[in-house]
Order: sequence, then C-alpha cells, then structure tokens
Amino acid sequence: MHTIHLEQALRTNHWHVNDNQGLTLIQSPLLAQYKDRLTHAFTTRMGPGGAPAPYDHFNLGRNVPDEAVKANALANRKHLCTVLGANHDHLKVPGQVHSGTVVPILEATAKPDMANVDGVSTNLSSVPLLLHFADCVPVIIYEKKRELVSIVHAGWRGTAQAIAANAVALMIEEWGAEASQMVAAVGPAIGTCCYPTGEDVVEQLMLTLSSPLDGSLVKEQMAQGLVKRGSHDGQAEQAQPRPDLKAINAMQLLLAGVPEVDVCSFCTSCRPDLFYSHRQSGGKTGRQGAIAMMHSPS
Ligand SMILES: [Zn+2]
Repeated sequence: MHTIHLEQALRTNHWHVNDNQGLTLIQSPLLAQYKDRLTHAFTTRMGPGGAPAPYDHFNLGRNVPDEAVKANALANRKHLCTVLGANHDHLKVPGQVHSGTVVPILEATAKPDMANVDGVSTNLSSVPLLLHFADCVPVIIYEKKRELVSIVHAGWRGTAQAIAANAVALMIEEWGAEASQMVAAVGPAIGTCCYPTGEDVVEQLMLTLSSPLDGSLVKEQMAQGLVKRGSHDGQAEQAQPRPDLKAINAMQLLLAGVPEVDVCSFCTSCRPDLFYSHRQSGGKTGRQGAIAMMHSPS
C-alpha cells in the first residue's frame, strides 16, 4: 500500500500555463475537472501588476514594509479577483507564520483574526481563499460531496507540522467530510533539484509519515525518493540531503486517505521567469498566490 502511495506522491504532472486577460495563471488539471463548482488558480509573477524589481510583475505579497509595494499588491489582489469573478470584499487571507494551524471560515463577511494561521477551510460559496508563496508548497484540497475547500501554506516547517493532513482532519471534524471524497492539488514549489537542507529538517519531515497501521516510520520509502541524496545534474557531490517537499505533502494527503493528488512539476527556483523564489532570489522577492473559491453550478 505504501509503495503505491509513494509512486503516486512522486508522480508529477505538467500543468498548463494560461494567459487570462494578460495575467499568467496555472491550473491543476485534476481540480479543473470540477470547474462547475470550484474556481482555482495558482498565479505566477507574470501579469499586468506593474510591481518594480525585485517584485516584478504581479506581486500579491504585502509582507514587506513598503507602502507602495503593499498598495500595488492590494490592487493586484483585486485584479485577480475580478479576473476570476470573485468578490474581493469576501477574500480571506491568513497571515502565514509557518505554523501548522488551519482554521474554518464560517461567515462570508466576518474578519476573523488570522495573523498566526497558515491554512483556511470553508463550506461557503463565493468566499475566495488566498495564500502566498515563494518556494513554499501551496496545497488546495476540495471535498466533492459536501462542497468544502481548503488551502494551506506548507514550507518545511508547515510540512513538518503536517498542515495538509491537518486541513483534511479539520474538514472531517467541522463538516463530517470524508477523505475519500477529496481531491488535492500540490502546486508550484521548490523542487528537490534546488532544496539542499539539514538532516534535522529531513528527520522532522519524515516524522509526519508514520504508518497509521503500525506506527512505524516509512523509512524505506524515504530512501526511495522522498529525500534525494548525492549529486544532481552532474554537479559536484552534494553533501546535503534534498527533501521533496511537494511529494512529502502529497504523501501526507495519500496517507490521510485522499485518493487523488495532482502534483505540479514546476520548480519555482528553476523558473525565475515564471515564479518568485525565495532561494533563487536570495530572499528579496515577491509572492505568487494560490486562490480557490466554490460557486453555485453555472
Ligand atoms: Zn529546481
């Protein structure tokens, strides 16, 4: 069973890049199958936003203490909502502090304190959820039967706190969801090609992949691909392990009982033409977004 999960988690798909009124968006082919009920998109840095370097062009992040950058990002968020037919007044944007915390959104017009939150779930139509990324893993989870959607921000810390699995558990607890009715998309994020890290990080990530059957760690699987070791692309011997954050998030979802997970093949650090990348840029850069919203059937 774990071997099947592992093969699934490591399989990446080519996602289509589309121009949407001058805005370059990426979609998961799996989630796009439910477009009658779910609008979703992963933004790129390409668009009409007009943010100056190093935030060029379509920055959505308001994390830098620069009022002009913040104002531009706000305008870009509004533009994104307009393009997708979403109501910006209802947009829910958590603070993102690399926690494992996911909260439910129960009222369209409420403004809950989400400063220390990295994941949101809702059962409400016409309430768009937006999170920001620059290498960290965006995950969108859709529950088809009860019409629920979640987005989480999973950097290595969030992944080590199993935030994707936390979102699954929250939907089950709050709304009686079933993991078997969920589909998930793991979006553009830093690839194992560009993510050398420490053994302590690897250890914490792997602790999230305990077997629900016998409680044992899935160690042999780690060796089989969730953590790359050795040289990459003929470069000098790479001493540091390179965990596959996208695959580890996919693995968490599969182990939680989500039957289908669509993993994006794009590495944000390899594609500075398309994406903001914290590592590639040396830390000073903008943020792309993952947005999702349910709507009544059209
Ligand atoms: Zn890469």
